[in-house]
Amino acid sequence: PRAWTLHSRPKGMPQLGDFALVDQPSVPLGENEVRIANRWLSVDPYMRGRMNDVKSYVPPFALGEPMQGGAIGEVVESRAASVPVGTKVQHMLGWREEAVLPAGQVQPLPPVDVPEEAFLGQFGMPGMTAYFGLLDVAQAKEGETVFVSAAAGAVGSTVVQIAKAKGMTVIGSAGGAEKCDWVKSLGADAVIDYKPGNVVQALAEAAPGGIDVYFDNVGGDHLDAALLAARMHARFAICGMIDIYNEGQPQSLKYLAKVIGARLTIKGFLVGDHMARAADFYADMMRWLGEGRLTREQTVFDGLASAPDAFLGLFTGANKGKMLVRI
Ligand code: NDP
Repeated sequence: PRAWTLHSRPKGMPQLGDFALVDQPSVPLGENEVRIANRWLSVDPYMRGRMNDVKSYVPPFALGEPMQGGAIGEVVESRAASVPVGTKVQHMLGWREEAVLPAGQVQPLPPVDVPEEAFLGQFGMPGMTAYFGLLDVAQAKEGETVFVSAAAGAVGSTVVQIAKAKGMTVIGSAGGAEKCDWVKSLGADAVIDYKPGNVVQALAEAAPGGIDVYFDNVGGDHLDAALLAARMHARFAICGMIDIYNEGQPQSLKYLAKVIGARLTIKGFLVGDHMARAADFYADMMRWLGEGRLTREQTVFDGLASAPDAFLGLFTGANKGKMLVRI
């Protein structure tokens, strides 16, 4: 079976040559292990950080070793009674056709009636990130005005829809007219196309009364714009800063002093710290799905060979909704 390994550590935007597709020997199963035929692989912005040799909240990918990431597949061989052959599971050994791992490290898919790949997107990690970030970290409430960047992405598009389901006013930003129209169709009250220029000015115009919440997926000038537009006691959930994942150094925080006078709360978070509320997430999402309030979009690259292209596409905005690789 084939797997993608990290061939070299990129500087700036990764190149295709930083990845290598290799044949791995098929290993016999140990006691309590399962073999999984992967069907869906997730590519996510955080993986860029794992390509660097720096200490972070997840360890770096090792050079010459298969890369890792969220994946969904079917158990094809099992030495664990708890996870029999045929079980559909989620696990973290993506970027490869076949995964062998202890049964304790795989999760059978939750009993929620959505297509299996949705558990890598709106009904999985990105959806939970949107839900916990907006409701628990930013404490966004009905009637408030929320600004969310990368609003046409997996996390951002779900933030837009949860905020609308909860009765908030939503301003999104995305790259290009087509994505902006789509974000509008999800219910956003206003959408900023950040590509042509001045986000600071565009947000000031879109939210003349200011914003109560900023859900940050981008950093950079989006964060500047949100600081300038923040009302008294506004809350910022700092989810990601994709604008600097290939650069390393943040741009200026020109308006940071606003945090004092406006008594802002700026809070970073990791989705994994909020799993105690996973049952609430599924219950609310199923209800909203049943009420027709959720739209799920995904961009699919076909074949394991396309995984690096799919991953790099996250940094050029090649995806609408969740970026996935289908094997
Ligand atoms: P997305 O589906 O949003 O894909 C990334 C999107 O970011 C692209 O489609 C692109 O959209 C936009 N983008 C890329 N480069 C830039 C740039 N320089 N400036 C502005 N926009 C850019 O990815 P996810 O939904 O998976 O992740 C969104 C964010 O959430 C990321 O920052 C990620 O790291 C973070 N995250 C954090 C988690 C946590 O626990 N804290 C968990 C999961 C995700 P466009 O065409 O609009 O530019």
